[in-house]
Amino acid sequence: MIVILEPSIQKNNYHNLMAYLDNLPNISHRIHEEKGTQQTLTEIYLIGDTASIPKENIETIPGVERVVRVSQPYRILGRHAPDDNRSSSFEYNGVTFSQDNLHVFAGLCAVDTPEHVELMMKALQDNGQVCTRMGAYKPRTSPYSFQGHGKSCLNYVFELAGKYGIKVIAMEITHEIHIQEINEALAQTGHPTGVMLQIGTRNTQNFELLKSVGKQQQFPTLLKRGFGITLEESLNAAEYLASEGNHKVVFALRGMKTHLGDPHRNLVDFTHVPVVKRLTRMPVCIDPSHSVGNRARSPDGLLEVQHATAQGVIAGANMILVDFHPHPEKALVDGPQALLLEELPAFLQDVQIAREAYEKRVSLAAH
Ligand code: PEP
Ligand code: MN
Repeated sequence: MIVILEPSIQKNNYHNLMAYLDNLPNISHRIHEEKGTQQTLTEIYLIGDTASIPKENIETIPGVERVVRVSQPYRILGRHAPDDNRSSSFEYNGVTFSQDNLHVFAGLCAVDTPEHVELMMKALQDNGQVCTRMGAYKPRTSPYSFQGHGKSCLNYVFELAGKYGIKVIAMEITHEIHIQEINEALAQTGHPTGVMLQIGTRNTQNFELLKSVGKQQQFPTLLKRGFGITLEESLNAAEYLASEGNHKVVFALRGMKTHLGDPHRNLVDFTHVPVVKRLTRMPVCIDPSHSVGNRARSPDGLLEVQHATAQGVIAGANMILVDFHPHPEKALVDGPQALLLEELPAFLQDVQIAREAYEKRVSLAAH
């Protein structure tokens, strides 16, 4: 059960409620405050057998706005009733993430050279973009493959991001120590940009990593769906982050590992965009690059990566993680699926067309 308090309520204005909750036998509670730019939202999670607690009684206590009964295993991130329209949005470094808007994170799968990072950042700025993806820590199938430059590249990546007005970089981490390394590099460079910590598909159920990332409040998180587990299992993984205190979670679909998706690298699962939005309050990201995994072009002239992107966007996706590279033939990771910088303007226009179509579909459904 979740008790939602009136916006911006002060602690001393809900002591009657706390006295009531303290007297409930075998029920513990946890207070969560979400500090937004306009107001602070306070929610109290009741843990234990709450079935017999009358919701209506709590709703009459001063300071209480609403009580929501939890009907999903993901109690914090879940959407628990058709009228559970609690805000799903959060703001980070001047960029707002929600189930209602869309951001493109085009960038390098893996950082290789400062020159390539700079060419990428400049192309993004030239095209009005403020977000990117940059891999420094790469989980690789083979121990002999390039593992990413790690912390040695962070300072120049952050400085170049600042130089070109990039506000948020999605960056995968594979160990909790990487959070500290990112923090140190941001401090050393004077916080020129922000980072969204990415948890990759291979780590979706690395519960200790999820707990560490969930415990910190500084960075939002992009959680990739596990490529060989159910959607429910991946949503529970996201709930690990929230249960530790960090509710700023974006959920990414990136395709499922099965040969039934051949010749794509993974079976594209973007029909799950509206499903994740119905079951949870998280903004939903799609990763067409790791889903499709190639640069094949269909007879209509569009790349299959573009078709997959449009399918996710027309279904309401809120974020796109997509691989670009100034010289894919020189990329150290995933060159064959990277789009070229010259393809960025058309890619963005195509996304815009799909987004407008989505918005028209939503207004049609409202009539
Ligand atoms: C990536 O985005 O670079 C990546 C490795 O993705 P995934 O975890 O989905 O394979
Ligand atoms: Mn990759």
